[in-house]
Amino acid sequence: MFINGEWTAAVSGKEFEVTDPATGDVIGTMPDGSTADAEQAVEAAAAAFGSWSSTTAHHRADLLYKAWQLMTERAEDLAQLMTREQGKPLKASRAEVKYASDFLRYYAEEATRVRGEWLPSARPDQRFLSLRQPVGVVAAVTPWNYPISMLTRKMGPALAAGCTIVLKPAEATPLCAKAVYQVFIDAGVPGGVINMVTALDPKPIGEVFTSHPKVRKLTFTGSTAVGKKLAGAAAANLKRVSVELGGHAPFIVFPDADPVRAAKGAAALKFLNSGQACISPNRMYVHEDAAEAFVDTMTERVGRVKAGNGFDDGVGVGPLVNEAAVAKVAAQVDDAVAKGATAAVGGARLTEAPFDAGHFFAPTLLTGVDDSMTIYREETFGPVAPVITYSDVDQVLELANDTNYGLAAYVYSQNISTAMRAFEGLRFGIIGINDVNPTSAGAPFGGMGDSGLGREGGSEGIAEYLETKLGGFAL
Ligand code: ADP
Repeated sequence: MFINGEWTAAVSGKEFEVTDPATGDVIGTMPDGSTADAEQAVEAAAAAFGSWSSTTAHHRADLLYKAWQLMTERAEDLAQLMTREQGKPLKASRAEVKYASDFLRYYAEEATRVRGEWLPSARPDQRFLSLRQPVGVVAAVTPWNYPISMLTRKMGPALAAGCTIVLKPAEATPLCAKAVYQVFIDAGVPGGVINMVTALDPKPIGEVFTSHPKVRKLTFTGSTAVGKKLAGAAAANLKRVSVELGGHAPFIVFPDADPVRAAKGAAALKFLNSGQACISPNRMYVHEDAAEAFVDTMTERVGRVKAGNGFDDGVGVGPLVNEAAVAKVAAQVDDAVAKGATAAVGGARLTEAPFDAGHFFAPTLLTGVDDSMTIYREETFGPVAPVITYSDVDQVLELANDTNYGLAAYVYSQNISTAMRAFEGLRFGIIGINDVNPTSAGAPFGGMGDSGLGREGGSEGIAEYLETKLGGFAL
């Protein structure tokens, strides 16, 4: 753990093991922290807040630029570590490290753009001035699916704003978090400004984060169930909250789309991170006129996706995070097939050597999916593309919106009016229009409904770490 500028063991002296999800090999150990460790980390962050928040924005920008440079220099080592610890193909790890470093550069720039305003008063002898200041100590909880970029997406803007941080990374991927911390440390971020507590059981740490009076903000990325609990507990203590949670993204192919292009996009998007992404498409609504061309292209593309160890050449799908994840995907696929869906490609876990030591599920294309099936409602978090054929264009936005989630949605159409109506009508925070990657460090990312509160990235991302203060000056 990293507390008050020092790498430390847990107060209890306990440790936990970290494993490679492709092989089951133990690849490291980390301190197994608990309440006392989290409290120390919060105290350290609170003690450092005064001096850090009074540094100039230019100074903080310089440190973030330095961190960006170091992360760029270390990109290959970080990517290798990510593939080892998280399992994603090396190419995807490299792309994630690039995306992660983009947040450091973007918020280095954004640090110097935090401005207040001069506001008009109704009284001639009064002036109003608004000032934006850092909220204080930020407690951050991050997931294992994007184990480096989810840290920089929070830490970049928090540091740029002048906040100090206590992070609890996911128990499956603490080694990536440690490597990110080393980047910040080597860039010269002072002790106490960034702290990290690792733990096998996240619950006691979450309790400190949501109840400690010196924590002023909670930022969380993970499941909707846990996010609701933590946001509720933090809100009860009037802490500021942003949570980025699950999704159930529709992917709509209109009759005026290019179905082959849409299928190529769907196949590329669905298998990213083995489908373990909150913006992964979970319901592919394909118009009956486009269905044959779409399914043919998908069948060919999905059939070509190779599962395996992320270090092996040509692998497009790595292991899932653990056994429970494989069991959940298998249960959804079995349920769908039992209710009449067809596994056009894949459809089962991979159990033969070399897959037997890891947690693998075959890249899968399901056709004939309908709303009676669990997969139609529940997030899959696995390499399964479910295709639903529809006929009524006027109804499809309603179908797509019929979910409690509201993170990402995708639309394929060659017609500007169709695309614009869908962009406006879909109740989701992020919409890809003929585009499978609507994300960037400079763009707001976040969801509606059960997908969360707040935005990360862009100017919205730093606003989450700032308070507005009003000054009324009588002359
Ligand atoms: P996933 O299903 O993607 O693993 P989780 O929401 O369980 O999603 O995990 C996301 C992050 O939330 C991880 O860092 C995990 O340790 C943490 N977490 C899970 N449960 C709790 C909890 N009760 N309190 C605090 N953090 C938690």
